[in-house]
Amino acid sequence: MAQDEFSIIRQYFHDVGPECADVRLGIGDDAAVIAVPDGMQLAVSIDTLISGVHFPPDTAAADVAAKALAVNLSDLAAMAATPSWFLLSISLPGFDADWLQQFSDGLRRSAERYDVQLIGGDTCRGQLSITVQIAGLVPADGYVSRAGASVGDLVLVSGQLGNAGLGLAHLQGSLELPEELASRCVRALNRPQPRLDLVDFLRNFASAAIDISDGLQGDLGHILEASGCGARIEQGALPVDPWIEQHDLYRYALASGDDYQICCTLAPRHRGEVENWNSQYPERSLTIIGEVVDSGFLLRVGDEWIDLGNHGGFRHFE
Ligand code: ADP
Ligand code: MG
Repeated sequence: MAQDEFSIIRQYFHDVGPECADVRLGIGDDAAVIAVPDGMQLAVSIDTLISGVHFPPDTAAADVAAKALAVNLSDLAAMAATPSWFLLSISLPGFDADWLQQFSDGLRRSAERYDVQLIGGDTCRGQLSITVQIAGLVPADGYVSRAGASVGDLVLVSGQLGNAGLGLAHLQGSLELPEELASRCVRALNRPQPRLDLVDFLRNFASAAIDISDGLQGDLGHILEASGCGARIEQGALPVDPWIEQHDLYRYALASGDDYQICCTLAPRHRGEVENWNSQYPERSLTIIGEVVDSGFLLRVGDEWIDLGNHGGFRHFE
């Protein structure tokens, strides 16, 4: 590289995100040191984005940075944890000052927006790949896992499903979308919005939660597997763009990746809380799509029940 990694770190990765009081030692030593406040627990997660696998190689550097952080923030949102710090391991094919500046600017904007501080990482040369490890706080044993769903619970999702999948299909030329929808869907693909605005709801009411990174079918499937139960959901209840409904392309809502919405389950006694939440926060609204049952994973389409068990969701090694 035209510059050594220390000057890259200094120039592009110092002072990213607001300084957090619990950080005793940040970038520059062999490890960062963090104080965990009394009564809190750390939730930690890591995700890698590889060029050509997780994003098209020509994706703008600022989008790549925002997405690398967003997918990790999304994992903490699904645990009902509040993100605080992150580490960044980046592998770069070479020194490209413009690319790095845009990456750094995008990272800085997202870190500030979501109030997370970059406290360390690793920088090396190789195929473009970005790994973010995130850590956040949750009140002791206040986290929400995938394993807490019970028979009779309601199944909910946030936002709209399938838009990122439509965006990718549009970029790959396999779908032609109307212009306005195309730009909205490409934006959903490149700039997922981690649903940290749902953390309070999840902490107070959810029995189980997951972020939808690989499609509802696969990800709700993970809740059911971890919780040892089944579900029945309604295709007609899925929150989708009207275009998906008109063209009967629900497979994008069920089995395409990168939505980063939240799927959660809720004891039926909390049903009223969904209505309260939706009227209080219409822009964060949650949609009831079905219920948890003893076993089996079925989708109702009109009068038919379709078996969703054992397939769906992107798998790297298939
Ligand atoms: P070491 O040799 O101990 O692994 P490095 O030379 O990899 O240390 O990194 C020096 C310092 O810079 C460390 O504090 C490390 O956490 C930080 N760092 C390295 N790369 C990054 C990066 N991409 N983003 C943020 N901090 C980084
Ligand atoms: Mg290192």
